[in-house]
Amino acid sequence: MSDSLILERVEANLTRLRLPRISQILQAVIKTAEEKSKSHLAFLDELLDEEVAQKEQRRVETNLRISGLPFIKTIDEFDFAFQPKLDRQKVMSLFDLTFIQYKQNVIFLGPPGVGKTHLAVALAVKACQSGFSIYSTTMEDLIKKLKKDHESNRRGKGRSYYKSALVIVDEVGYTPITREECNLFFRFIANRYEKASTIITSNKAFSDWTEMFHDPIIVTAILDRLLHHSIVLNIRGKSFRLKEKTEKELIDMNGTEG
Ligand code: ADP
Ligand code: MG
Repeated sequence: MSDSLILERVEANLTRLRLPRISQILQAVIKTAEEKSKSHLAFLDELLDEEVAQKEQRRVETNLRISGLPFIKTIDEFDFAFQPKLDRQKVMSLFDLTFIQYKQNVIFLGPPGVGKTHLAVALAVKACQSGFSIYSTTMEDLIKKLKKDHESNRRGKGRSYYKSALVIVDEVGYTPITREECNLFFRFIANRYEKASTIITSNKAFSDWTEMFHDPIIVTAILDRLLHHSIVLNIRGKSFRLKEKTEKELIDMNGTEG
């Protein structure tokens, strides 16, 4: 059989086996393998490694796209110098992701703009890259989903916001919730308790949660489960949004002056 016929058959089989990356690089890898007289094993290894790397990258990209994250940012993009009171080491230690293995929760508290969502997103991105299932939602959106499940008598157990290894519930406390909604949120937290990790961000101190959840008994029950295995980071600092704004205003002002 001629080389070109073999190549044709290899290409056809690569398509059938869904190995597009190998198809793409095959000719070039054959060429360098011949030039550098690589072993058969090294040749095969290179091809497979490239295919696996591309598949892995696709998986991460797809999962990030469907995860509901409000934006994609990493911890490298986080300027710790801007938030000097934040315990950098404590934050960085979260990125070994042992909290997910131990089903612990992470809670970011602080006023708007201090980077709560950024840190939560960065953890989710790392978790996704490490192969954990992730899901991100806001409190408002989560309540809507829980109500819909409740009304349609679905228990929602198959939903991403129940079964993902890591779920972000962003912006707890921005909008007050009713007693019934509070109950649904309690059930959500109780379901994930000791089973999977949840990241909560809130602009309200725990002492203010009673007020926004209306029912002190349920709030106590929620906090009890949420905090039992948890890492709490209270970010006391300035808003990054305002920093960006003032810098931009300064540039604008200089622009008009000059
Ligand atoms: P919060 O959720 O606390 O209101 P965000 O995390 O949404 O704040 O931060 C607001 C914006 O500022 C985002 O674009 C975020 O990436 C950015 N940001 C906040 N803190 C920092 C920081 N320390 N370094 C870099 N970017 C930051
Ligand atoms: Mg936020």
